[in-house]
Amino acid sequence: MVISIASGKGGTGKTLVATSLALSLANERIVQLLDCDVEEPDAHIFLKPSFSHRETVSIPVPKLDEVKCNSCGKCAEVCAYNAIAVFSKHVLIFPELCHGCGACSYLCPEDALSEVNREVGILEIGQSNGIEFIHGRLTIGEAMPTPVIREVKKHINRERLAIIDVAPGTSCPVVEAVKDSDFCLLVTEPTPFGLNDLVLAVNMVKKLEIPYGIVINRDGAGDSKVEEYCFEQGNPVLLRIPLDIEIARLYSRGITLVEGMPYWREAFVRLYGDIEQIVFTRCKER
Ligand code: SF4
Ligand code: SF4
Repeated sequence: MVISIASGKGGTGKTLVATSLALSLANERIVQLLDCDVEEPDAHIFLKPSFSHRETVSIPVPKLDEVKCNSCGKCAEVCAYNAIAVFSKHVLIFPELCHGCGACSYLCPEDALSEVNREVGILEIGQSNGIEFIHGRLTIGEAMPTPVIREVKKHINRERLAIIDVAPGTSCPVVEAVKDSDFCLLVTEPTPFGLNDLVLAVNMVKKLEIPYGIVINRDGAGDSKVEEYCFEQGNPVLLRIPLDIEIARLYSRGITLVEGMPYWREAFVRLYGDIEQIVFTRCKER
């Protein structure tokens, strides 16, 4: 089973939920934690894995052979990302805009474009408390996290329980991380900002046709509009984590909720049981 943990808004406690869910289930099954928030991965701060494998993530970008090029401009026409421009007799390549789709080199009539690898990030694999830990890091200054997210997701083993920590928001990198999940947990907080971004996130998972449930973090702060929205829309609230200064203290010290407050394990095991039930019911309906 693949469970993605997402949130429309940043700072709602996605990583808190992802790490505690993984630790709570690691005694019963083989768990993978994949941190796909590759621009700011932070699950390793809490799980402190020992890494045994590291590899670079690259994408193929075009390299021009000026002797063969006749400046026909077909490469610039075909590039959907404006990563190639042709001015009179000059071909300009902007590698940082290139998505590595290969269309330009494939369609160049003069075979003037070859491909060279360009490093965009790294991927690290390790172990922590029996959890298989995988995360990616986008190289600083790079604009495209999706190739790194794809590489991290290649390590998903569907025979195991794979928990994906997703970046905040609802943009392309989030869709890339969430798609193909069996279930998506949306973590929110009871504030107007939390509600605004939760609505966007719910719309996203509905479009992706992924079953979902809500976790309300810092419950008791703010207002009741998130609860009202979930009730009116029939969005299941599967867990509420109260606003608690002790939970905030643990988080600020890089300690997971279930390690700092072990009695929370039971709530996360129950949460997983509810997720299984929703996924099972959905499978039967199809
Ligand atoms: S398609 Fe090939 S030949 Fe034409 S401008 Fe681009 S690189 Fe040059
Ligand atoms: S590989 Fe794709 S994205 Fe990159 S320059 Fe060529 S057509 Fe554009």
